[in-house]
Amino acid sequence: MRTGADYLRSLNDGRQVFVEGERVKDVSMHKAFREAARSVARLFDIAAAPENRELMTFKSPKTGNPVWRAYQIPKTHADLRERRLFSEKWAEASFGLMGRSPDHVASFFSGYAAVPSVFAAGGQKYADNLIAFYERMRDEHLYLSYAIVPPQIDRSKPAHKQSDPALYAGVVKERDDGIVISGAQQLATGGPLSDWIHLSCIHALQPGDENYANCVAIPVAAPGVKLYPRRPFALRADNSFDYPLSSRFDESDAYAVFDNVFVPWEHVFIYRNVELSRDQWWKTTAHSLGNHQAQVRYVVKLRFMMGLAKRMNEVTGNEGNPAVMIMMGELAALASIYESLLVSHELMATIDKDGVLWPSRTSLYAASAMQSEFNGRMLEIIRELAGSAFITLPSSLADIENPETAADIERYMCSGSTDAKSRIALMRMLWDFIGSEFGSRHQQYEKFYGGASFVVKQSMYRNYDFKRATALVDAALALPSVKAG
Ligand SMILES: Cc1cc2nc3c(=O)[nH]c(=O)nc-3n(C[C@H](O)[C@H](O)[C@H](O)COP(=O)(O)OP(=O)(O)OC[C@H]3O[C@@H](n4cnc5c(N)ncnc54)[C@H](O)[C@@H]3O)c2cc1C
Repeated sequence: MRTGADYLRSLNDGRQVFVEGERVKDVSMHKAFREAARSVARLFDIAAAPENRELMTFKSPKTGNPVWRAYQIPKTHADLRERRLFSEKWAEASFGLMGRSPDHVASFFSGYAAVPSVFAAGGQKYADNLIAFYERMRDEHLYLSYAIVPPQIDRSKPAHKQSDPALYAGVVKERDDGIVISGAQQLATGGPLSDWIHLSCIHALQPGDENYANCVAIPVAAPGVKLYPRRPFALRADNSFDYPLSSRFDESDAYAVFDNVFVPWEHVFIYRNVELSRDQWWKTTAHSLGNHQAQVRYVVKLRFMMGLAKRMNEVTGNEGNPAVMIMMGELAALASIYESLLVSHELMATIDKDGVLWPSRTSLYAASAMQSEFNGRMLEIIRELAGSAFITLPSSLADIENPETAADIERYMCSGSTDAKSRIALMRMLWDFIGSEFGSRHQQYEKFYGGASFVVKQSMYRNYDFKRATALVDAALALPSVKAG
């Protein structure tokens, strides 16, 4: 299987990633990406470890070799559970802090491959391309990121009415051997660390937008692909004591620019088709499986959050305070709701006449529709419980090491239950989780990674069983009349 070392070596492929005015020579060596790349490499090693074979892999139907369960197309409820256990193991390695680990987009492609007829509606060759590419991703253990949202340049106009037809990523030329794409698309989280980018569009397109209605895969190192990551927090994280999370798990979010990028036909799965560009998300299991992985990761992160809050209360000595217990109870209730919705996403899955397993959309969209509010509420509770805990700390590790200040820190910054260095290490981790630039980006991520909440609430509306609800009302209205008194 592909190991972490194989993966790290493959990153030095001439890709164009620009940070702080410079083109990065090798992302696996650059301070902005190095440790995050190592965190991803560990995932490859966890999956390749012989002792994890059953948990992490299944046999490729094509080669018989072990491949990641993230590429398993679930046919039964047990298969879906196996996918959960796979993703949970990976998510635990980053404490749920790397949202776009390789299993995310792998899950979307597994969902596409579960219902290839959607792609065949544009021509059989597109479905064949899709299946061949899915098999390649699976058998070569490929890591894809994706950019599926048009840039926020002018949201008041459709794609084809922007000031320049090549502003949003779209087809600018058709050739005998493929197509040429130009324009920008957001927001490839993990883009600089991935092998390929999946470019498509999940926003509703309209007639006239055909050039932007595509579904393709492009190597990150393909000529003309340029990635512009946001400020890398790892660059400021000068030691892992003061920045325990930013220094290791800053997966990067990159704006993707395509400058006349050639895409051969074999990597084109939808071509200039507004209807299919919509159907790929909703008439295949892609959106459900991709967001199943996202919820597995989120549940792990919530468990980590609960652990951090509990330890914080122990260290501040507030653990036994009844008011604190009530707040922790609210936090635990919210975390448990997410855990339960994840399980019901699986338990309430249905299998259609073609044998395709459809995870419950009601459970999925209930979880994601409320995530932007509940996540903020949970962080607010922790801030409430913390008081000054994140602030009454020395400026950096250097103060602990300076003989002039070390004794004061040891004496006055300890807690009743632990020495100063352990208390500071815990509070630094909490701050990196909740308040540092890394922590703050995470809050934005949880609000928007699956789309703005008004969009997710619309999906919830479309999937709720209103028929059953209104039938109850009709039954109540049809009750035989009774005489008053
Ligand atoms: C950290 C992070 C990582 C991400 N990673 C990825 C990734 O890997 N790949 C990817 O493709 N995408 C990713 N996304 C998601 C994506 O790029 C968008 O941010 C997301 O889909 C929301 O779109 P937008 O940012 O353009 O917001 P907009 O659509 O412009 O919406 C912004 C806000 O405007 C208001 N608004 C706009 N229109 C309406 C309306 N019709 N009705 C009501 N209110 C409205 C709402 O308050 C809404 O929240 C990521 C986002 C973040 C923040």
